[in-house]
Amino acid sequence: MRPLCLALAAVLCAAAAEGADRPNIVFIMSDDHAAQAVGAYGSRLNETPNLDRLAREGLAMDDVFVTNSICTPSRAAMLTGQYSHRNGVPVFNRFDSSRQTVARLLQAAGYHTGMIGKWHLGSDPAGFDHWEILPGQGAYVDPILYTATGERRYGGRYTTDVITDLAIDFIRSRPPDKPFFLMYHHKAPHRPWVPDEAHRRMFADRWLSEPTTFWDTYATRSQALRQNRQRVADDMRRNDLKLTPPEGLSEEERRAWLVVTPDEVTLTRDGREVTLRGEELARWKLQRYLQDYLATVQSIDDNVGRFLDALDAAGLRDNTIVVYTSDQGFFLGEHGLYDKRFMYEESLRVPFLVRWPAVIKPGTRTDAMALNVDFAPTFLEAAGVPVPADMQGRSLLPVWRGQTPADWRTSMYYRYYHDPGDHNTAQHYGVRTRTHKLIHYWKSDEWELFDLVHDPHELHNLYGQPGHERLADELKAELRRLKSELGDEDQFAEEQPPNGVDGPVAKLRGR
Ligand code: CA
Repeated sequence: MRPLCLALAAVLCAAAAEGADRPNIVFIMSDDHAAQAVGAYGSRLNETPNLDRLAREGLAMDDVFVTNSICTPSRAAMLTGQYSHRNGVPVFNRFDSSRQTVARLLQAAGYHTGMIGKWHLGSDPAGFDHWEILPGQGAYVDPILYTATGERRYGGRYTTDVITDLAIDFIRSRPPDKPFFLMYHHKAPHRPWVPDEAHRRMFADRWLSEPTTFWDTYATRSQALRQNRQRVADDMRRNDLKLTPPEGLSEEERRAWLVVTPDEVTLTRDGREVTLRGEELARWKLQRYLQDYLATVQSIDDNVGRFLDALDAAGLRDNTIVVYTSDQGFFLGEHGLYDKRFMYEESLRVPFLVRWPAVIKPGTRTDAMALNVDFAPTFLEAAGVPVPADMQGRSLLPVWRGQTPADWRTSMYYRYYHDPGDHNTAQHYGVRTRTHKLIHYWKSDEWELFDLVHDPHELHNLYGQPGHERLADELKAELRRLKSELGDEDQFAEEQPPNGVDGPVAKLRGR
């Protein structure tokens, strides 16, 4: 009897040491998916029943923000748990894959790790037992995916479907004796918003509601808004709008034709030619953009549903964390814009839905303020792995358990660096609290101050307005405090970081 007990205790001890009950972690991310286009966040544009399923069976987080609203930097922040000024990726420069990442740490702790889909960090993934990634932005159809040993073309296939197939394959072929960590990352709905035919048809004839700020005149705001080149009315190219080039052009002429930003478009309606200009054209451009964008989102929604079905059918539902988020937010016509980059709400906020039946109460919501640098510490703590001191985020686990600590953050620091860069968006940094936002466009020394409670659309800049001096001073003090705490003392760095913007190394194999 006694030897058996000892043997049993030894097995139990070994199991505990190995963490036999450690959760699996599935980190689903799409590229540029705005919270305004998710049902669980009250979308007026579309329905996302499968993403909403995560909210229904888990938790919807309402105030999750990125620390630098652009693709590659946000991905680096998520992997490292560090802000851009620490992780070496403030713009589109190459990620140093020898750095500490959540994947490396989980792999070292015995997790089976995988990265499937959009990577976009300029270097090969490290810390993964299996990876299959799109080169750079990748293609929407007939994609090529790179692996550690070569590449494979998926001819005749739609990329969102392919990435999901590969993610399901990863689950099915995993070693049975280890927990797994899977990054399942979609290309969609990134520009140029190419849907598959079935989803394109779903939105082709829909007239989608214009955001109330589509005709924002930028009165009271900084020059940065007037100078940016991500305006639906002015900066969409013919290929964004899926216009067909005239016949008989050479390939070079065809390419040149497609990148023009048209100020008039002639269409055939009811058998008659109609030429759109001015306001009417801007409205049509917004519709064409939203129709395609939302169609690519619908494919993600279908595919996430298919993935969840496969996960649940494999008996993995209860002890698997499933997160759905995006690498940043996106403008869907708000302030007349598409794209991201600015610290305004639509670009700053990401959807964040998480299901973990063993721990998270179904159908719950929280407005606890979370950041993309929190994801790595959260996954580590959930896996029982110590969070390294040089990670700057904070584990969200207590929030997920419904026990948000009393000292939880009430403000966050943001900084955008990619200037000069695409869309001519001026460098800026700022602070957002639960109720206010202060932005500094430091090159022109312009400030914007918004009351998010009374002006949630950020139309009325209060900076410099009588009666708001004290508020501005308090927010400046908080901004300085955060900068200092996070070690970003270099307030006015004019030089570009090493490797530069889209530097030569990043172009190697076009990761
Ligand atoms: Ca992105």
